Amino acid sequence: MRGAGADTPAGRTAGEAGWHASRYNLVAPLPGSKNVAIANLFKGNCAEYTPLEMYLLSVVEELDEGHPIIERFARRGVIADFDEQAALEAMGRAACAMPHAIGLTLCPTMGCNFDCPYGFEDHFAGKMAPEVQDDVVALAGRMLDASGAKDVSVTWFGGEPLLAPEVIESLSGRLMALADELGGKYSASIITNGYLLTQDVADMLGRCGVRCAQVTIDGLGATHDATRRLANGGPTFERIAANLRNVKLPFEVNIRHNVHEGNMSEMDELEAFIGKLAEDSGNGLHYYPAPVSGSEAADERGGQVGLLCSGDASEVGIRQEAGRFRAGQGHYCGAHTIWSVGVDERGNLQKCWEAVDKPHISFGTAHDWDPADPLATADRPDNLTMYLNTAMPVPDGECRECVWLPHCVGGCPHRRLFDGRSCVAFKDDPETFVLALHARIGREERACTPGPTVHDEEQPL
Ligand code: SF4
Ligand code: SF4
Repeated sequence: MRGAGADTPAGRTAGEAGWHASRYNLVAPLPGSKNVAIANLFKGNCAEYTPLEMYLLSVVEELDEGHPIIERFARRGVIADFDEQAALEAMGRAACAMPHAIGLTLCPTMGCNFDCPYGFEDHFAGKMAPEVQDDVVALAGRMLDASGAKDVSVTWFGGEPLLAPEVIESLSGRLMALADELGGKYSASIITNGYLLTQDVADMLGRCGVRCAQVTIDGLGATHDATRRLANGGPTFERIAANLRNVKLPFEVNIRHNVHEGNMSEMDELEAFIGKLAEDSGNGLHYYPAPVSGSEAADERGGQVGLLCSGDASEVGIRQEAGRFRAGQGHYCGAHTIWSVGVDERGNLQKCWEAVDKPHISFGTAHDWDPADPLATADRPDNLTMYLNTAMPVPDGECRECVWLPHCVGGCPHRRLFDGRSCVAFKDDPETFVLALHARIGREERACTPGPTVHDEEQPL
């Protein structure tokens, strides 16, 4: 991937030098303008182009390779001088081979103080026992040894993780020490319903390296309480809102709104409410709508998990999808690498957040599994390898040739395994997606995200 403008023989065309239009460009005419927007899915860039620039792009291979537009196009990814598909596949393999961090999704308890419409089957609502915590720390040590990574990234999940704050506090200290010993970084996030987020708890989470939280609010007052009520049936909206207003939060909070027919009309009002809450409290609160569809149980679970999967071609769905636009990583989520595992409160290991309540698709235990010998130490190696084998190169000819591949990577591995291929819902409507991206150009987006986003330095999204 050399840059344009390097020392090269004089007189060559850009085409002779290997430049060609990217295979991952999506183009949309801008309403009321002669310009178009191009989103490059490989580079994670969206920018506006004039008719002259579009003409130059159409004849790019015939231009002199020293033409100044070549460098500009290359920086934005709309042209390339390498095989982007091969690069994506290589990045996917590299994510498994050379991680900079290990990822742990830890469930200190699978118990929950809410009576959400979903329910875990046969789950054990106890807290993670001290010996299981020891196993988790030992597992993290083995993962760091085997991978050569120095950084540790933790997501607290459940159940409701704040029902077991002592587990979070104790384990955080030990995992932070592991990263510290290696000179690495420790970072953490939490998925919580927000009901138990008192000042003491928030301070504790801050000391435990939590930098990002996700709290779900599904509407205003009674609308929220209709689905997100306490186990005893009591309401939760006022308490959550009070926590977000009165507690000084040492981390950013993404407020997830699971949008469905019953609460869609409250979107604008809820967004304004969160904006006011942020202003009044000084807390970093960031509203984002997420569409839900399909079964109620799956939707609610998806709401908790904050699924990366796309499943909705509505305006909200496309806006959500545009929100996670970034450079192609070659992998979809942690399920595609061996260095990311989920651990339930009993020490069962899973490849996917969706599976933490399903012991039958666990691949092993924190006590026994060793990534240095990942198959021999797994109880059920197939439950590990089936996820890994959905990674790049995606075992699906249609995906490998698809223009959406850098963004979609063949879709959520869990869905692929259990429901079949799940294409981006707006696969046949790329223009709407590009216009949603274009609308975000220059706008501040939510401040805490699960990973870095690579954007054009001139026109950041
Ligand atoms: S496999 Fe799908 S459901 Fe599981 S963690 Fe990845 S994106 Fe989420
Ligand atoms: S799952 Fe569908 S949209 Fe995604 S890469 Fe495969 S064919 Fe394309």
